[in-house]
Amino acid sequence: MSHHCSPISSKTRLLAVIGHPVSHSLSPLIHNAALASQGVAAVYVAFDVVPDELQTALLGLRAVGFWGANVTIPHKERAAGLVDKLDPAAATVGAVNTIVNRSGVLEGYNSDIAGFAKAVTSVRPSGVAGSRCLVLGAGGAARAVVAALLAGGAGEVFVHNRTRLRAERLCEEAQHWSGGGSCQVASPGSLADIVASATIVVNATSIGLDSSVKESPVPVDILDSHHVVVDLVYGPQPTSLVRAANARGAAAVDGLEMLLAQAAVSYQLWTGLDAPVEVMRASLEQAGR
Ligand code: NAP
Repeated sequence: MSHHCSPISSKTRLLAVIGHPVSHSLSPLIHNAALASQGVAAVYVAFDVVPDELQTALLGLRAVGFWGANVTIPHKERAAGLVDKLDPAAATVGAVNTIVNRSGVLEGYNSDIAGFAKAVTSVRPSGVAGSRCLVLGAGGAARAVVAALLAGGAGEVFVHNRTRLRAERLCEEAQHWSGGGSCQVASPGSLADIVASATIVVNATSIGLDSSVKESPVPVDILDSHHVVVDLVYGPQPTSLVRAANARGAAAVDGLEMLLAQAAVSYQLWTGLDAPVEVMRASLEQAGR
């Protein structure tokens, strides 16, 4: 592996992740390692942007000629309405996690869809076809998860969310997405039954992101060895949901696989290069993950 670190100069291109909070993000680590390993003269930084400043921040990226950006919690849905052009998959799910600045035109993409599909396959090589799935959450990430599950041929997808209206809206829209499976809202009273009968359980809420929140997004005592748990959240250690699932014999993966897979897609969109995924993975391992 070669490391040609380019000095920062007036030609250095700029990339960033925009989120709130964002200080936990591993994206700068992953992308800077990848850029350095391929000798790409660019740097990737993190911006903590409050919701009221998102539009101004995106206009700023365009004004100063940023190469592109990732958009993360809680901005993915609003970003879809703020870019100049949307790729069809991002338009379908109504959420953007990757922006490419092509000569002043901000193009929005969603690399979470492919990233999630890859993460599921890493823990369940046979994929999701015909499976009963439960998705916790109805935000930007959950929308990408539902799109990937339906596109992968999931039989039934249930969505449970703290704000029920948001889950209803997601399921209504998902009826028109590709794949023949159904998407329906899980009522709070039936959550335990749905967990018990589902094969694939996905946490797409931000519970677990802040370790001070001790609640679990799902009643973990119902999990057993037939379950496959995908937690989109990641942190310095495996999340408490992943640990609880593993302790009960379930196959489980935290958000790192998806993080790597979506990062690889975003990197390719900006640079036009195949992402050095093993360099990206090694950067996480060196940082203790
Ligand atoms: P978002 O649009 O802000 O949605 C957040 C979701 O979490 C909503 O469904 C929200 O419910 C729910 N939620 C937040 N706090 C909660 C609480 N205390 N109790 C119950 N529900 C709660 O964020 P997002 O972009 O979808 O991201 C969601 C999570 O996925 C984040 O942790 C993010 O880091 C992670 N993620 C990881 C990857 C990866 O590559 N690993 C990719 C994308 C996202 P309400 O609708 O009721 O507010």
